[in-house]
Amino acid sequence: MTYCSPALRTLLGWDPEETLGRSVFDFVHRDDADMVRAAFQRLLEMRKTNEPVELRFRHRDGQWRTFEALGTNCIDNPHIRGVVLNSRDVTDRKLIQQRIQHLAYHDNLTGLPNRGLLQDRLGHSIARAERSGRKVAVLFIDLDNFKNINDTLGHDVGDELLRQVSRRLTECVRAGDTIARQGGDEFIVLLDSLEDGRGASVVAQKILGSLRSAFALGGTEQHVSGSVGIAVYPEDGRDAQTLMKNADTAMFHGKGIGKNTYQYFTSQMNIAVKRRMTLESALRRAVLQKDFVLHYQPQVDLETGEILAVEALVRWRTEDSGMVMPGDFIPLAEETGLINEIGEWVLREGCRQMKEWLDRGLKPRRIAINLSARQFADKAFLDTVMRVLQDTGLDARLLELEITESQVMRQTEGMILLLNRLSEMGVHLAIDDFGTGYSGLGYLKRLPIQKLKIDQSFIRDITVDPNDTAIVVAIINMAHSLELDTIAEGVETAGQLALLRAKGCRIGQGFFFSAPMSAEGVYPLLKQDNLYARAGARSPAS
Ligand code: C2E
Ligand code: MG
Ligand code: MG
Repeated sequence: MTYCSPALRTLLGWDPEETLGRSVFDFVHRDDADMVRAAFQRLLEMRKTNEPVELRFRHRDGQWRTFEALGTNCIDNPHIRGVVLNSRDVTDRKLIQQRIQHLAYHDNLTGLPNRGLLQDRLGHSIARAERSGRKVAVLFIDLDNFKNINDTLGHDVGDELLRQVSRRLTECVRAGDTIARQGGDEFIVLLDSLEDGRGASVVAQKILGSLRSAFALGGTEQHVSGSVGIAVYPEDGRDAQTLMKNADTAMFHGKGIGKNTYQYFTSQMNIAVKRRMTLESALRRAVLQKDFVLHYQPQVDLETGEILAVEALVRWRTEDSGMVMPGDFIPLAEETGLINEIGEWVLREGCRQMKEWLDRGLKPRRIAINLSARQFADKAFLDTVMRVLQDTGLDARLLELEITESQVMRQTEGMILLLNRLSEMGVHLAIDDFGTGYSGLGYLKRLPIQKLKIDQSFIRDITVDPNDTAIVVAIINMAHSLELDTIAEGVETAGQLALLRAKGCRIGQGFFFSAPMSAEGVYPLLKQDNLYARAGARSPAS
């Protein structure tokens, strides 16, 4: 180097004098040296301006900076007799380019490859597998209860969960395999160059195992599980699109059978998918046309035989399949978000019906309405309740809302606030399916609830299984000490009733008293006083 401009000091930290007489290669990154040497060579041969080259120079502080340099051959210029290198620092531009490149092919939240990059890699894997005769597996993973956590604990917590899940998934595969986030709570794993498709199940089991321990989220411990669907090249598809679609189908199918499992794709599954799509569009139509009815089931005071309340249970009225029970469409309604509209209809119809009964001169009784987690997480829910009460003219004290134990366990500040507001309005709150959620009891004291509904699974064998008896007795005693009402669900026999009454349970509901019935069907029961006064001895129906 015979001359350096003073800008060298700001760009690379060197004093121009320190560099005089030294070789430019003292400053060029070793990996770039050959390329730079070749460029010099070309420059000397061609005797004119060359293409710009990108190379790394060493900063005086030891870091490498990327420069774009343009050489000009000035050997023949008597004032110079050398090569002039015009260089500019492009390090930042380069970083931004890399970042953009990364963003285009990666998921922003988890840093994992995105669907586009996965598709690209899958294409290459398939091409390689075609030549080598080996297999490629696509694993489609969906978290089973992500929506619930996201809805109840908020999106920040949901995001954090996805980051933690992506870290655990990364530990389940080899370095050459790809994990991508497909969007939402869905991940795809690409297993390259497998001996045979069965190897994928080992990874699937590893993945399910890795999700098993609790996640620490927002100061709480949350449990999630996943469902995995597997499609293998070439049996289940010969191109990336088909493999991904079929792995998704297998995952979905597995979820329907029971969560927390893995499933290989079979061609039968496509038929099941079509059926579900038909069901979903039929449910959408039903929501528009309000093809639902409520059936009502009495809740009976076990001492006086009075009907204290009726629970509204929704049914979907269809032309070809008759009445569809809630167990067969509520989960789909929850998944698709249709539950909010269905739930509002149920609330309104239940309140309207109760008010109509009151106007016809019946005694005031509560109407109990079941809620889904998604309704509860909806910010507008409180307004909806107030509006419905106003529109129907029902006294808030005659409304009871049932939330399941598992929903309440995920209590958040927002939820406690909502419960308190409802309680202040006079609305009663009951915990449904109590005993199934393995909840601690501490939380019960923090919530403004009035009633525990003991899950029917404990009542079923209460007279024969001493464990169930013990559980029910424990729940009743605990409820007493917390000054909560207890209601036993699914009371079917006089024996169950006698035992429940002996143990101090105050309210009962079940086929023993009455199955859920249409509004007209239940009306005569509501008209009578102390209908079940001697229910301990026999059912009125018998
Ligand atoms: P749930 O709230 O625990 O309701 C009790 C279920 O037990 C009802 O089933 C009822 O018909 C049934 N049952 C009542 N007595 C007996 C009995 O003596 N023996 C037996 N084996 N079963 C009895 P259903 O109507 O099929 O409802 C099932 C579940 O669907 C409900 O469980 C509730 O969680 C949900 N559900 C019903 N209506 C609604 C609704 O409007 N909104 C929401 N989100 N969920 C609803
Ligand atoms: Mg219920
Ligand atoms: Mg229940």
